[in-house]
Amino acid sequence: MRKLNFAAGPSIMPMEVLEELQKNLVDYHGKGLSMIEASHRGGMFEEMYDECLADFRSIFSIPDGYDVYFLGGGATLQFTMIPMNFLLKGGHADYTRTGSWSNKAADDAAKLGNVNILFDGKESGYTTLPDPKALRPSEGADYLYLCSNETIGGIEWQEFPDTGEVPLIADMSSDMLSRPVDVSKFAMIYGGVQKNLGPAGAVFIIMRHDMLERRNPDLTAYMDYAKHAKDKGLYNTPPVFSIWAVGLVLKWIKRNGGAEGMLQNAIEKSGYIYDVIDSSSGFYRSPVDPRYRSRMNVVFRCPTEELEAKFLAEAQKEGMIGLKGHRSVGGLRASLYNALPMEDAASLAMFMKEFERRNG
Ligand SMILES: *Cc1c(COP(=O)(O)O)cnc(C)c1O
Repeated sequence: MRKLNFAAGPSIMPMEVLEELQKNLVDYHGKGLSMIEASHRGGMFEEMYDECLADFRSIFSIPDGYDVYFLGGGATLQFTMIPMNFLLKGGHADYTRTGSWSNKAADDAAKLGNVNILFDGKESGYTTLPDPKALRPSEGADYLYLCSNETIGGIEWQEFPDTGEVPLIADMSSDMLSRPVDVSKFAMIYGGVQKNLGPAGAVFIIMRHDMLERRNPDLTAYMDYAKHAKDKGLYNTPPVFSIWAVGLVLKWIKRNGGAEGMLQNAIEKSGYIYDVIDSSSGFYRSPVDPRYRSRMNVVFRCPTEELEAKFLAEAQKEGMIGLKGHRSVGGLRASLYNALPMEDAASLAMFMKEFERRNG
């Protein structure tokens, strides 16, 4: 029996996609070889890749003037590539510190240039965000950086700041395609695909083409976005398997209502869990400012760590896995990515109520 998989990443994939991968792994649609045996300079790969990129553009409503492609190296490599390209000598970049992932990005950038911390959630324990309507970039900033959904802290920007002429760059690793986003507000959106889009190995890059004019041109080849943009991400061998699977996930998203459909599902699924937390009169606690609760990663606590351990052990017996909070923060976390079936979120909510009744 398949587990109910609430893991934060790598994470659950749509069953239909796994089956399609399996069906075509050895012989890709009768071509006599596997997609992972095919050259990335050949027609078989390119046809699949072009379709994947086209679906990505249409589902996410990416306007003309943006390059879209995939790279390796994890989202983490982007923490370095972004400042290498766009944090210029003598300039500075604005960063928002809202949790583990944006902190890592800000720390890496600070090794390469001047970083101005526009917001630091440290005092609140990273449980709240700045008001996006009031947040303004500093004078002359090279860019403003944010993480749209902090996967570990369970906190998500519901709206994005208006940064005017200053390029806005966002890490959307863990809530990409869980909702429609106005891409035109951003100069760059990127993310590891292993949370909401496919198997680990690829990072998607969406970048306004004119950003390349601002970049530092003195970079080694791989670090230079212009090299990748020029060849739609095929400067070197791309993560083929991952891209193939992402392509299938994109088609699955299309069949299931696109970005708007994913949003409705996310509202409903996270609603189940937050309702249980809010109606538990204190047995379950969410540390996150209710205005910025993540619909993808629901973070919560029980009254004691002993109860949390018991919760995890009993959930496991019910086939529910991946509910342990990140080792850096403890507690519990339910990740409710696109591919998680509605029934699984409902089952978790029911289990939580039952657990409270027995232990409250
Ligand atoms: C997981 C995650 C990352 C790191 O991704 P890697 O692919 O492991 O480098 C970065 N940002 C966010 C928001 C994440 O959830």
